[in-house]
Amino acid sequence: MTVDSQHPETIVLHAGYRADPATGSVAVPIYQTTSYQFRDTQHAADLFALKELGNIYTRIMNPTCDVLEKRVAALEGGVAGLALASGQSASAMALQNIAHAGDNVVSSTDLYGGTWNLFANTLKDQGIEVRFVDPSDPENFRRATDDRTRAYYAETLPNPKLAVFPIKEVADIGRPLGIPLIMDNTAAPILCRPLDHGAAVVVYSTTKYIGGHGTSIGGLIVDGGKFDWEAVPTRQPYLNQPDPSYHGAVWTQAVKGIGPVAYIIKARTTLLRDLGACMSPFNAFASIQGLETLPLRMREHCRNGMAVAEFLKGHPAVSRVIYPGLMDGEARRRADTYLKGGFGGLVGFELSGGRDAGRDFIDALKLLYHVANIGDARSLAIHPASTTHSQLEPEELAATGVSDGYVRLSIGLEHIDDILADLGQALHAATGMRAAAE
Ligand code: PLP
Repeated sequence: MTVDSQHPETIVLHAGYRADPATGSVAVPIYQTTSYQFRDTQHAADLFALKELGNIYTRIMNPTCDVLEKRVAALEGGVAGLALASGQSASAMALQNIAHAGDNVVSSTDLYGGTWNLFANTLKDQGIEVRFVDPSDPENFRRATDDRTRAYYAETLPNPKLAVFPIKEVADIGRPLGIPLIMDNTAAPILCRPLDHGAAVVVYSTTKYIGGHGTSIGGLIVDGGKFDWEAVPTRQPYLNQPDPSYHGAVWTQAVKGIGPVAYIIKARTTLLRDLGACMSPFNAFASIQGLETLPLRMREHCRNGMAVAEFLKGHPAVSRVIYPGLMDGEARRRADTYLKGGFGGLVGFELSGGRDAGRDFIDALKLLYHVANIGDARSLAIHPASTTHSQLEPEELAATGVSDGYVRLSIGLEHIDDILADLGQALHAATGMRAAAE
């Protein structure tokens, strides 16, 4: 049974699973198995020929992963999901599925650093050119497009700039050209459903808010099922021409009897089969535990995030606060259009004392963890100029939105009084140390 509720609170608890058919277990079991007994040789042949869908081998599918896939797909309003080993593998495979050597992708410049590396180096080495454009003008995507452009790519709520991406504007540019918009929604689950605004595909690092507990690396691709991959067949050759890696299947035709799932079935049966970056059943189980409380947690992340942003705004040691809920003009209009129920848990700010003040602030924190992660139930902090972005030149730092005194916070679920007390004492310690050193 699958739930037909439209409410995220219900979907995360019920979609895709209702008691284990073998045991009645209410919790989703961890199917820690590599392989599955075929009923007979015909059954095996039908599974391999995609005449019947079913379990073959855990590198390609697994019942625990299947629940996570169905649940996140239902949450996003999509038709199917694909669980992967990490967010990185989700971003890579989302593009490799439809772009090969000689093709290009147009991507927003506002990206997680790991995705930037993947696009600028590894995909480039594979012959896939990623063209980075400034998303503040959506028309930049059209300008960078040519005949070999296979996809547009962006993050809903990219840090450090935290400027919400113009999803509908860019999806509308791509659709008539046959170009899908792929959105990384890692920082804004529940707050935004990119598919509702015209995106074709959503990717997640489940490592972050979906898990929430900071125990398990994972990634997911959701196929929205609404993008017409056949509208401009020359634009999407790998879904419209015979695929030699699966005995000549033309994916848009091969899945007609199953549903609008050509994109995701191809990713599973070719790329996941060949590259093997599958999610482990245990990590799927852990991610499901997190997912079950995601709507509740996002409300608190947003509430605490806003309170922290307001607190920092009024603090004399802080020269600038970067938070969607405090932005003006077009950035604020996009935040209001695309984020519902709050502005998220990520808060950036700049210390007037620059790089030294940033380091002193981090070193003085007692409650907040100093880690390279976001979306944990615990509050986290990092000073990018001395860590994640320390190799960049000053002009590159400026382009990515990281100034010397920039600090990124991922605000968690602790009591707000304790979070503010820790931030307050660390700001005091950092600015006091600076004064003493001068
Ligand atoms: N996308 C975003 C927005 C991220 O923040 C991250 C990780 O920080 C990733 C993708 C990559 O995810 P993972 O670390 O699970 O590979």
